[in-house]
Amino acid sequence: MLTFIPPTYIMGVKGKRLSEKPEYAIIGGGPAGAAAAYTLSKAGYKVTVYDSAPRLGLKPCGRGIPNIGHLPFPIPKESILRQIRGATLYVDGERVFDVEEGLSGVIVDKSVMLEALITDSGAELVKKAYYKIGKKHVRIGGNYVEVNRGLFAAGHGYYSDEKINAFQYRVKNRSFEEMDKLVIYFDTELIGYYYIFPSHSDEADVGVGGYADFPELKSRLDKFMKENEYVNGSKILRHEGAQIAVGGVRLKLIDNLPAIGETAGYVLPLTGEGIRPSMISGHTAAQALINGGKVTESLQKMPMTKSVNLQRKILERVKKMKPARRAELLKSIPASVHAMIALGEINRLELAKALINKPSLLAKILGLL
Ligand SMILES: Cc1cc2nc3c(=O)[nH]c(=O)nc-3n(C[C@H](O)[C@H](O)[C@H](O)COP(=O)(O)OP(=O)(O)OC[C@H]3O[C@@H](n4cnc5c(N)ncnc54)[C@H](O)[C@@H]3O)c2cc1C
Repeated sequence: MLTFIPPTYIMGVKGKRLSEKPEYAIIGGGPAGAAAAYTLSKAGYKVTVYDSAPRLGLKPCGRGIPNIGHLPFPIPKESILRQIRGATLYVDGERVFDVEEGLSGVIVDKSVMLEALITDSGAELVKKAYYKIGKKHVRIGGNYVEVNRGLFAAGHGYYSDEKINAFQYRVKNRSFEEMDKLVIYFDTELIGYYYIFPSHSDEADVGVGGYADFPELKSRLDKFMKENEYVNGSKILRHEGAQIAVGGVRLKLIDNLPAIGETAGYVLPLTGEGIRPSMISGHTAAQALINGGKVTESLQKMPMTKSVNLQRKILERVKKMKPARRAELLKSIPASVHAMIALGEINRLELAKALINKPSLLAKILGLL
């Protein structure tokens, strides 16, 4: 028989004096939900994260966070697989720039990072707990827990605007041992890119994301694996794919719960970077709850919302261009501007300095801001 049981029983805190602050439920223990749980829990709120999966961090992901400098909290040390200090960008096989130093990025073990953020902050984590939209409850085994107050962070499956596909291999190769940079190959015909993100000593995630179906992405990635100097001859350990929300921020409520993370479109559409934007959205939403403000208004105002939407506007323009024009444009942009746009950290003054000799490009970018 299916029964409703009080959340306190599920959390194993029956009899414990509860704080007077409201309790919050977070649906989904990905980067957005974990960040929100961390922020609320550190502020003394009782938080329970419900995730449908048996383990966190199972979603296919390259696990790269290219800049941890402006994150509102530290990435748990035990989850860092590799420090990233630079990046190389190729456009249609031609090396466009190298950033040798200056990035402060990491590749993480997502599972370890998410569990540590949630549980070390004191929040409760309940796995195999499925939230059913419309019913306003999570189902845990044969029992149900009502959800009245919290945030919705259950990922891209609940995002309703444009999504692209991404497919990747986890591979083994000694050539990754010394790598401390991200390598990205933009493909102007696909409108997408291949990436090499080194993780453990001799492992990397090698993938492709773009406007194509999964069989086509797989066949493109197989060709890339044969031809690329870094990955050629690698042993494939596993393969996986998923979709990425690239339609820009779409703020909404799901059963009265404000959406955060990829559900609300917090992915930078040009790069597919979603961990950092999702975490920032989770943190900002939690801060709004703590301060008694409106979550959607706080999300609307935050700089990351503007960065995601700027990249979306650029993507829309780029999609309309012919491949040759796309390549010409990408190659004409200075490395520092590429980095600003890619990381979603545009500073108007720095932009103006970098594009002093390209006033029409400057005007176009400023016009999109
Ligand atoms: C192939 C690929 C590679 C990528 N590589 C990178 C990268 O290198 N760097 C980067 O920054 N981004 C990358 N991304 C994007 C990134 O993975 C996501 O944007 C990010 O994980 C989104 O975080 P989230 O917390 O919003 O959602 P998710 O990480 O998707 O977490 C959602 C959680 O909700 C749970 N859930 C789902 N439905 C329910 C339900 N009904 N009830 C309860 N729980 C539920 C899921 O089990 C999951 O744990 C990649 C994406 C793909 C597809």
